[in-house]
Amino acid sequence: MADASAICRSHSFESDEEIDGIRKRLLTWYEANKRDLPWRSRKAQSLNEKAYAVWVSEVMLQQTRVAAVIDKYKIWMKKFPAVEDLAKASLDEVQELWSGMGYYSRCKKLHEAAQKNTKVVNDLNGIIPTSCEELAKQLPGVGRYTAAAIASIAFNERVGIVDGNVIRVLSRLRRVGVAHNSKIAENHFWFCSNKLVDEECPGDFNQALMELGATVCTPKSPACSSCPVSSSCLALKQVHEQRKFASSKFSKTDNGSLPDIESSGCSLCLPPTEPWDSDKGVTNFPRRGKKTAVKTEEFISGVTSFRSNDIDYYLIVKRPSTGLLAGLWEFPTVPFLSSNGEKKIQLLGHLRKFLSEDELSEVEIRESKTVSHLFSHRRHIYHIHKIILSINHQTSQSLSKDLVHFKWVTEEELFRLAISAAVKKMFEASGDIVSPNVGSKTRKRKLNGTQQSLEKFFKSK
Ligand code: SF4
Repeated sequence: MADASAICRSHSFESDEEIDGIRKRLLTWYEANKRDLPWRSRKAQSLNEKAYAVWVSEVMLQQTRVAAVIDKYKIWMKKFPAVEDLAKASLDEVQELWSGMGYYSRCKKLHEAAQKNTKVVNDLNGIIPTSCEELAKQLPGVGRYTAAAIASIAFNERVGIVDGNVIRVLSRLRRVGVAHNSKIAENHFWFCSNKLVDEECPGDFNQALMELGATVCTPKSPACSSCPVSSSCLALKQVHEQRKFASSKFSKTDNGSLPDIESSGCSLCLPPTEPWDSDKGVTNFPRRGKKTAVKTEEFISGVTSFRSNDIDYYLIVKRPSTGLLAGLWEFPTVPFLSSNGEKKIQLLGHLRKFLSEDELSEVEIRESKTVSHLFSHRRHIYHIHKIILSINHQTSQSLSKDLVHFKWVTEEELFRLAISAAVKKMFEASGDIVSPNVGSKTRKRKLNGTQQSLEKFFKSK
């Protein structure tokens, strides 16, 4: 928690009665309004199974919308119903299933944690740790938030939770006006959530708080009139006081703003340099932190293909096992260095890693397009080229060279692999390069089953 001497009392809760009231109203509201989500309705045979189910859902839900997670979660739990099943799977299989949800490092860490040589399956005989502290200590990639979610929901440990939804609710309830990601604010949110969490039903309470943030106390248009904890909300109280003041005779003598009701020098109040904005109402909270500067990097990519029996086959390469998008598949891509001359020359130089001189001797290189994609704090700009080979396909069966893995796949196979959203954009962009007249109908028809896999293609030779 923040230094008590430097913060106003209003940022904490007034009394045990107030806390009890918030718990009761929130739990009652949750019981009546909770969304029917697969991780909530899933029946588990054991606590271990329940913990695994919560763990998977919490990892999937980080930085991904609920709607985008629902189907993936169902498929995942069907394929890997227990932590042991996940441990036995290959990273490729796991990443393929994850495909489309982004932030692949989450998936990799989840898999790592379940792998045979990690704590869960080996050292702990497949038993997932039961306390928040042990979960965070023992499981790779499990931070304070995920550990608190598993411990409270699966094992009923009385521990609070802090995620983006909870931050929004708490910052409004307690009028926390400093950057939400500052150390002092973060500590205060954990202090508040641990103070508020229900003693009997910590898991339900934590889910209720997150649900309130996701469905009622939303970022841009919170539905305060249907909020179960509005009577304890200081941001809403400030809105009402502001309105009252604006219509009073005192407001005529100044600019119509409510005089500063906070003590000066409080570390959690709105800073004097960025005071309350009456147009924003409760959305004055939470306050954003400084944006991390986005770094821009440029690449040259070759959507490289050959055609046989009216089917296109694409060259894809596996990324290194560490770093951004580790282990995913992509089109041959090389950093663009303007000092190295023409883009086409740089790209052909890179393709020599995968293709022979013979294969490269007859290529058609079509105009480049540019695709931009934002990865968290990095913007990648890809200069796309469509490279069409007239090759002897028998030579294209080689799958690795100098420890770089690559393969040829059909469009259908490509979209089943673990590829990033940027690769999908590149593919679409390259389609436009090839023939602007080939519309989405043609593309869909191909996907619907007339394509044969490359494996079958080679077998039939
Ligand atoms: Fe959020 Fe409004 Fe409820 Fe306050 S009253 S917690 S701002 S929805």
